Amino acid sequence: MNKTKYLNNQSFGFLTALEDKPIKMDKHFYQKCRCICGKILYVREDSLLRGTSRSCGCKSKELRHYQFTEKAIAKMQLSKIGKSKYNKSGCVGVNWDKSRGRWQASIRYNGKKINIGRFDNYEDAVTARKKVEVKILKEIKEKIPTSN
Ligand SMILES: [Zn+2]
Repeated sequence: MNKTKYLNNQSFGFLTALEDKPIKMDKHFYQKCRCICGKILYVREDSLLRGTSRSCGCKSKELRHYQFTEKAIAKMQLSKIGKSKYNKSGCVGVNWDKSRGRWQASIRYNGKKINIGRFDNYEDAVTARKKVEVKILKEIKEKIPTSN
C-alpha cells in the first residue's frame, strides 16, 4: 500500500510541491508541482522522491511518463468516474448492505471512498449516487484548464 507523504512546499530540483493534496491514480500518488518556468504539473511522488523528476522537462530530459498536466489528470479522473461498470446490484457504487438491510451508495474519488448514504429503496440509492457522480464530474471539468 502506497502511503502519501507530505511534500508541501518542498523543492525537488526545479520543481516545488504545492499545498494541494496529492491525487491518487492507479495506486500512485501525484503531487501538484510548479516548475521554475511556471508550468503547473502533476508528478508521481515516488519519482519526485527518487529525484527522477526535477523539472517539467524544460531543464533536462525527464521521465515524462511520471508527469501529467492538470488537463491529463482531470481526463483520467473523468474516465474513472464516468465508467459504467455494472456490479451485482446493476449500478456501480450501489451495494446491498446485508447487516442493515438497506442499499448503500458510495463513490470512489481521488482514491478515497465517499459514503453517500443508506437507502430503503434501490432506486433512491441509484439516484443519490448519480447525483454525486454528476457533481464530482462537474467539479473535475471545472478544474480542466481551457488552455494548455
Ligand atoms: Zn519547467
